[in-house]
Amino acid sequence: MTQTGTIYLVGAGPGDPDLLTLRAARLIESAEIIVHDGLVDPAILALARPDAELISVAKKRARHTLPQEDINVLLIREAQKGRDVIRLKGGDPLVFGRGGEEAEDARAANVPVEIVPGISAANGAAAASQIALTHRDASSIVSFVAGQCKGLSDQDWSGLAGKGRTLVIYMGVKTAPQIAEKLMADGLTPDVPVAVIENAARPNMRVVRGLLAGLPQLITQHAIKSPALIVIGDVTARDDRVIAQTAVEATQ
Ligand code: SAH
Repeated sequence: MTQTGTIYLVGAGPGDPDLLTLRAARLIESAEIIVHDGLVDPAILALARPDAELISVAKKRARHTLPQEDINVLLIREAQKGRDVIRLKGGDPLVFGRGGEEAEDARAANVPVEIVPGISAANGAAAASQIALTHRDASSIVSFVAGQCKGLSDQDWSGLAGKGRTLVIYMGVKTAPQIAEKLMADGLTPDVPVAVIENAARPNMRVVRGLLAGLPQLITQHAIKSPALIVIGDVTARDDRVIAQTAVEATQ
C-alpha cells in the first residue's frame, strides 16, 4: 500500500520572496505539486522546480474557480496517492486563509498535515509602510477583521477601533463606504486617521492616508484595488516625514 503523503499548508507572505520563511522556501523549491491561490506572487512560484505541477485555484470572478470543498478533496486525493502536497497561500494560512478548514478536512481523512506560518498582510504592510500596529504612545490593542460584503452588517466591531486601538481590515476595498459608516455608527469620530496600503511589500506598493469620514473617497480618488488593507487609528498619523513621503508616492 502506498504511504499517504503530507499536506503542507504554507504561508507565502505578502509577495516579496525575501519575506518567505526558510521552511516555506525549502518546501516550495522541492515540491512535486503546489496548489496555490491567486494572491501568491509569480516571483514566489518561480522558485518551484521546472517539473513541479502547479495548480491554481485562484478566486477570480471571471474565471472558473474551485469551490473550497473541491480544493480540500484535491489536496486529500493527491496526498492519498502518496505525494506531498504544498498548499500555498498568500500571507499566513490561518489568517483569513481557510487553512483551518483545510487542516480539519485533512485530519478527518487521516492525512498528515503541517502548517507553515507566513507573514500576514497586516505585518507585511506595517513594516513596508512604517506604520506600527502597536505603539506605546498610541495603541496597545490591534484587531484584524474581514470587511467583505458577506455578513459585514452582522459583525460586531464595537470597541475594536478608537483611542488606543488599531483596527486592520482585510478585504475591505469594495465595502469601504459601509465600513466607514459602520465604524461611525459604533461611535468613532469622523476625524480618526486612516491609511490604505495597496500591494504591501511589493514593488508597486502605495500608501494613502486620510480621515475616517473620507475613507471611501480616498479609495476612489486613488483608484485603490485589491489586495489592499485599511488601517484605522492614531498609529497611521504619527510620523509627518513618513506621511509626506508616502503622499508623494501616492501621487506618482
Ligand atoms: N491569508 C492572507 C489574507 C487573505 S485574505 C494573509 O494572512 O495576509 C485577502 C486579503 O488580504 C486581501 O483582500 C487584502 O486585504 C489582504 N492582502 C493580502 N496581501 C496583501 C498585500 N500584499 N497588500 C495589501 N493587502 C494584502
